[in-house]
Amino acid sequence: MSLANGRHYLAIPGPSVMPDRVLQAMHRPAPNIYTGELVDLTHSLVPDLKAVARTRHHVAMYIANGHGVWEAALANTLSRGDKILILATGRFCLGWGEMAAAMHIDCEIIDFGQRADIDMDRVAEALAADKDHKIKAVMAVQVDTSTSVRNDILALRKTLDAAGHPALLFSDNIACLACDAFHMDDWGVDVMVTGSQKGLMTPPGMAFVFFNDKADRARDRADLATSYWDWRPRMAPDEYYKFFNGTAPAHHLYGLREALDMIKEEGLENVWQRHATLARAVWAALDTWGAGGPIHANIADPAKRSHAVTTANFGPGNGLRLRDWMTHNAGVTLGIPLGGVEGTGGRKEDFLRIGHMGHVNAHMVMGVLAGLQAGMAALQIPHGAGGLDAAVQVIAEG
Ligand SMILES: *Cc1c(COP(=O)(O)O)cnc(C)c1O
Repeated sequence: MSLANGRHYLAIPGPSVMPDRVLQAMHRPAPNIYTGELVDLTHSLVPDLKAVARTRHHVAMYIANGHGVWEAALANTLSRGDKILILATGRFCLGWGEMAAAMHIDCEIIDFGQRADIDMDRVAEALAADKDHKIKAVMAVQVDTSTSVRNDILALRKTLDAAGHPALLFSDNIACLACDAFHMDDWGVDVMVTGSQKGLMTPPGMAFVFFNDKADRARDRADLATSYWDWRPRMAPDEYYKFFNGTAPAHHLYGLREALDMIKEEGLENVWQRHATLARAVWAALDTWGAGGPIHANIADPAKRSHAVTTANFGPGNGLRLRDWMTHNAGVTLGIPLGGVEGTGGRKEDFLRIGHMGHVNAHMVMGVLAGLQAGMAALQIPHGAGGLDAAVQVIAEG
């Protein structure tokens, strides 16, 4: 007998749950990739993608995962030997920096650790020290999926402006686009990257670079640009073939069309609000379970937590034990710890990550939390009473 049998829930921070509507839209024979419906459909995606990013500027679509568009963003704006500033708040911005270093870009790294967001005073110092404006780009991750911290991208723009520094501002929104609020143009972001498989509810395999005219001017000088990653032919192609520098990802495009329709139907601000409320339910449970014990959300200040993913410490070895219990007894797969998070004695096994991004609703999140509470009871993991009730209260209040 296993209570895990039934519909399994992959509650990891990406790939996220795919709506049946997206899956059904993809279930079709191969379409004509030269003329007709697919061509029109692809053009229709452009304004809707820009609306989700809150930008009037440009988007280039790629057949790639998030790592692919990390490389595309760097290649289109930078040259060998250029310097960039990496603002690390977990695994992901460091990863972007490692990729840049491999492309012979000179990376200055400020590491804010595993439990904090970007400290703007330290950024201001680094910019002030760069009197010759050698730093060409400042790289941040809006939500670092390893620590679940959310950075204040608007504050970062203001810090650059206050320093009078001309560097481009890059934001990695792979974890959080269409989950956490984001306003590319109003926040002065020059380049933003995201993927299809998290807030956009589409299978992994497509990714996007959004960029403004300032970033596109950098493309004129960038000697790292290569034919495949070049964003120019993808901006407003005269021939359909140039959109993807080859065969279009036909089925992904049908899926993405459906996902963007779903976001439009719900309303982007309602989508953000749904994520905010579901995240607060998760935190309410964690805070209550943690009363007087070791259980806690990795990021202490709720204002700095992502609405898409929560990294939590359940005490010595318990993240691993609970993930295992959830898989085998509740039919839920939770996220593994990533990056440099360290629990008791430096162990990662204390942590797990809960993905609450994309096609997720109240019963799914309450199911995960109820499962965790059952798992703690079964495994005799000490926890404060009433965590599930606290989450239910958040949902009840809406
Ligand atoms: C998932 C993720 C990535 C990597 O995306 P892949 O599709 O796995 O290459 C990069 N940055 C952030 C913030 C992410 O959440």
